[in-house]
Amino acid sequence: MVIILKSNPNKKQLDNLLSWLKSMNLGIHMSEGANTTLIGLIGDTSGVDMELINALDIVETVKRIQEPYKNANRKFHPDSTVVDINGVKLGDGNFQIIAGPCSVESEEQICQVALAVKEAGATLYRGGAFKPRTSPYAFQGMREEGINLLLEAKKVSGLPIVTEVMDISHLPLFENVDVIQVGARNMQNFELLKELGTLKKPILLKRGLSSTLQEFLMSAEYIMAGGNNNVILCERGIRTFETSTRNTLDLASIPLLKSLTHLPVIVDPSHATGIARLVKPMALAAAACGADGLMIEVHNDPAHALCDGAQSLTPEAFKDVADAVKAILPYSFKGAK
Ligand code: PEP
Ligand code: MN
Repeated sequence: MVIILKSNPNKKQLDNLLSWLKSMNLGIHMSEGANTTLIGLIGDTSGVDMELINALDIVETVKRIQEPYKNANRKFHPDSTVVDINGVKLGDGNFQIIAGPCSVESEEQICQVALAVKEAGATLYRGGAFKPRTSPYAFQGMREEGINLLLEAKKVSGLPIVTEVMDISHLPLFENVDVIQVGARNMQNFELLKELGTLKKPILLKRGLSSTLQEFLMSAEYIMAGGNNNVILCERGIRTFETSTRNTLDLASIPLLKSLTHLPVIVDPSHATGIARLVKPMALAAAACGADGLMIEVHNDPAHALCDGAQSLTPEAFKDVADAVKAILPYSFKGAK
């Protein structure tokens, strides 16, 4: 971090600033030019409040030279992380497809789709039990019963399960869930992230609706700072001025994230587009630019789905996507380090 001072800084205020910085165990490198004085900070500046320094009378501006995330940063961990989900490895060349309905609706539905997506090539199974809906009057999910039905589908299909947590108080229900999902709306629920950091379970962290990549990585950092390094990032589209798709899929984020972090990055083309026929081209594009996996919504009867039917694929359409993606994987972009 570099602090640029205004010309002729008040000596007493400068001494106060320097002794405060030293009290944080930071090394100081002063560089005095004809008009400008720079203070270079040496050491771990992740705990330094830039805005506080910026507000001081003697400070012109403050610049961070290094990213504020250490655990998630590829600079400090050059090898790509492989997350082990009960034997299913994801990351560093291990490409996995998570598929399943938006919501758990009944035992028959959740078990039927589990067998169908497994047959079609999915290696992990998704289904929402707690649903973050925009309207309080929309279907809110089957909650605890939904988790039990997912566990039933896991037994029937043998696929590890992924499902979303919305509140810390629900976590005891997730004991036998293989991957806990943090949805876009909760990406900056910092208390929830801290709690997930105390677990050993893999966490699938979705990008917030309007989050920058740095904010996304800082949320991963919250989980990792607690000791849980099993974090999978999921690009699921961001909110832009465009309204013809549900969100705008930020494909460039994939190679960029993979150069910034060692964590695996997957893509959800279903929530990114909101339109079933766009899922295949976006899934192919995501795989081509180096994603480590996909999350795709599949329903046995999309027209009657209780949630997100318009973006859900039938098992047959999902098989077509999974086969096409697998065919191009050998040619996908692997250069981002
Ligand atoms: C989901 O995956 O079910 C979901 C709600 O997605 P998102 O948080 O990305 O909107
Ligand atoms: Mn959905």
